[in-house]
Amino acid sequence: MAKESNKRSIETILAQAGNRTDDVKTGVVSTPLYLSTAFRHAGLGQSTGYDYSRVTTPTRDVLEQTLAKLEDATDAFALTSGMAAIQLVLSQFKTGDRIITSDDLYGGSFRFFDLLTKNYGIQFDLWDGQDFDKLQDLLQPTTKAVWIETPSNPTMKIISIEKTAQLAHAQGSVQVIVDNTFYTPLLQQPLNEGADVVLHSATKYLGGHNDLLAGAVMTRNNEIADKLRFNFITTGANLDPFDCWLLIRSLKTLPLRLAKQEENAQAIVQILKKNNAIDKVLYPGHGGMISFYLNENYSVDQFLQHLEVVSFAESLGGVESLLTVPAVQTHADMTEKRRQALGITPNLLRLSVGIEGTADLIDDLAQAIAAAK
Ligand SMILES: *Cc1c(COP(=O)(O)O)cnc(C)c1O
Repeated sequence: MAKESNKRSIETILAQAGNRTDDVKTGVVSTPLYLSTAFRHAGLGQSTGYDYSRVTTPTRDVLEQTLAKLEDATDAFALTSGMAAIQLVLSQFKTGDRIITSDDLYGGSFRFFDLLTKNYGIQFDLWDGQDFDKLQDLLQPTTKAVWIETPSNPTMKIISIEKTAQLAHAQGSVQVIVDNTFYTPLLQQPLNEGADVVLHSATKYLGGHNDLLAGAVMTRNNEIADKLRFNFITTGANLDPFDCWLLIRSLKTLPLRLAKQEENAQAIVQILKKNNAIDKVLYPGHGGMISFYLNENYSVDQFLQHLEVVSFAESLGGVESLLTVPAVQTHADMTEKRRQALGITPNLLRLSVGIEGTADLIDDLAQAIAAAK
């Protein structure tokens, strides 16, 4: 479990999110949902602190304060999607800047990196996340950031945030940015390991119900926070109040959901490892994400078609178990050569384990594998 933050445990902070925040003192225990875009002023030069909802709005404030505590940050920004969060973080950089990124991460991130190179001349250098001499070589005077996802996606390599930060920070003002979507702040708080910026696709574990698209960015560096706030308010990809309210509601059960997802995942890993139809299981030790290679004598398509509990669908982190084929879904935009080098072959499957009954998931996978022979 993550360390206690602001004295109380993360479970308490999340369960209580929004409680005691109503300034009209109705005693509501669920935070009020303010849909108003405009806020009345008592007179010239006077403000309640709220003027216009793109800039600040009370329900988003409650969410952002909760998100900040979750990552032990001082500032958090709630956005319309994980990609909007990624765009906000990258809005700090300009033509001529170089960014080092780990080589195995969310396919949509790579698509956006390519666009930034083509349209804005920002250069990206790929690193395997393991060889720190190589990282040292890649760090150049124009390098402005190191961007990592750990565990890596989908091959579940662990990258040391601490070592990455040591090398990057020895170079001057190189930011370490971590996409913490897979592990969540309950398993890993990157800022406490030396990272400067953390981001999430809150569509995944933080939202957790496969019904909400959202993103989050957190930092405790004032200079970075000021820059991000200016860009956030200016570009306007901020999360609307209703979705903020839904995400607050979702966050309250994150510790319970994740505990069950991890318990299910660990049981499934043991079973998959014993199944001859599975060549290799990739599991980083924690969390609810598992990748595995189905033996070539089995049909991936038949396996997917025979699943009755798990759904073949492209997302992760929700209460419903989902199975993804990275080569044709999340990582389809990568060149085949790069996919091959990383081990993202057509028989690599990625399972996001939900909160269903453990035996039902194990039985479902076993019967679908047997039917795929
Ligand atoms: C899904 C995902 C994203 C993108 O988030 P959206 O909410 O889909 O825009 C970014 N990073 C990771 C690791 C993801 O899984």
